[in-house]
Amino acid sequence: MDTKKIQMTTPLVEMDGDEMTRILWKMIKDELILPFVDLKTEYYDLGLPKRDETRDQITVDSAEATKKYGVAVKCATITPNHQRMDEYKLHEMWKSPNGTIRSILDGTVFRTPITIPSIKPAVKNWEKPITIARHAYGDVYKSVEIRVTEPGTAKMVFEGESGKKEEVVIHNFKGEGVLQGMHNTDKSIRSFAHSCFKFALDTNQDVWFSTKDTISKKYDAQFKIIFEEVFEEYKAEFEKKGLEYFYTLIDDAVARVIRSKGGYIWACKNYDGDVMSDMVSTAFGSLAMMTSVLVSPDGKYEYEAAHGTVTRHYYKYLKGEETSTNPMATIFAWTGALRKRGELDGINELVNFANQLEGACFDTLNEGIVTKDLVNLMEGITPTAVNSAGFIGAIRERLEKRRAN
Ligand code: NAP
Ligand code: MG
Repeated sequence: MDTKKIQMTTPLVEMDGDEMTRILWKMIKDELILPFVDLKTEYYDLGLPKRDETRDQITVDSAEATKKYGVAVKCATITPNHQRMDEYKLHEMWKSPNGTIRSILDGTVFRTPITIPSIKPAVKNWEKPITIARHAYGDVYKSVEIRVTEPGTAKMVFEGESGKKEEVVIHNFKGEGVLQGMHNTDKSIRSFAHSCFKFALDTNQDVWFSTKDTISKKYDAQFKIIFEEVFEEYKAEFEKKGLEYFYTLIDDAVARVIRSKGGYIWACKNYDGDVMSDMVSTAFGSLAMMTSVLVSPDGKYEYEAAHGTVTRHYYKYLKGEETSTNPMATIFAWTGALRKRGELDGINELVNFANQLEGACFDTLNEGIVTKDLVNLMEGITPTAVNSAGFIGAIRERLEKRRAN
């Protein structure tokens, strides 16, 4: 036991990954964490070779470990496609690890940009980050469709196990057209609501939720009703912290978001979240600065970067070329996880360390030392682009300075 280092009591679930982010993962640990923390992790290698070797059991095991310990940190991973099948000689086209972990934890993904003064959001009045929570189950993503090619009647039928039957006419087609049937479940919507309110209390932010219940009087209305019901369980705590739950129509929400100062969680239905998260993240600057955390309805946390494995940079790296890949979102996945572990276990030193490491990252960027992706986004400062190792080294220096003070 190294007594000079910060001690941990409960292990973090560490999920390693692929390609360029796997390279960064090791650099971050070696340079920014292991010299300061007597790191305790339960290690799961979610790199594609290991997933294939274990027939993806390792992904399931890592999710189960997250349920057990409560906090995980994940590196970006390859979601196999046909090209990857050949490249890695896979036994099967394994499913997205994020999808597998999300369904085991029944969690919601919250994406938040890391903001700095010299990168101005495209929307000039945004002063604080906007966090988007996307309900990642059902609706159009699990819909069935029919292409109608002749006149006829379309009906929607529900046959209950009790024998109850409900039938509505959707449309009497006079000619060709299209049909779509979608669904959601109260259970999934309820989990989504719990995750949103838990994360709001965790990060001291208001929750905005938006649907189109004036038009969709049963479907979207059910989302609104469930959120109101679930909120009752959190209301007292929200009041104590001076936080608000705010419901409005999706079109009103979009207008208000653009006029707002930011600094809240915007809970979105699946499609709205898909579309709006791309808009909001682009407006804040760079995908490389977007963090992501999966929160389960019972308060388990898995932290990661929102970006992928940065394949294009990895192929350059393999050829021995220099790369300038931005490690910010991956570092913040580590700080998020360490801070949460520290809070849960009552280890102030660990919480302080996470804050210091984030502070050192901001010191570096604010002094104009950046990776290449940020150069053209900076205003009011002349940036110096460095490679990944140089950037991490600059953070290390500033971290040591902060810790010495
Ligand atoms: P990506 O890895 O996010 O990279 C897309 C492009 O965005 C890069 O080529 C790079 O642009 C830029 N970029 C992203 N992160 C960056 C960073 N940290 N620093 C600098 N530039 C960065 O997306 P992708 O190429 O579509 O996907 C690659 C692999 O990642 C795929 O196998 C996919 O399945 C996987 N993926 C995993 C996750 C996850 O695990 N959460 C999420 C998404 C994708 P330039 O090339 O122009 O520099
Ligand atoms: Mg999208």
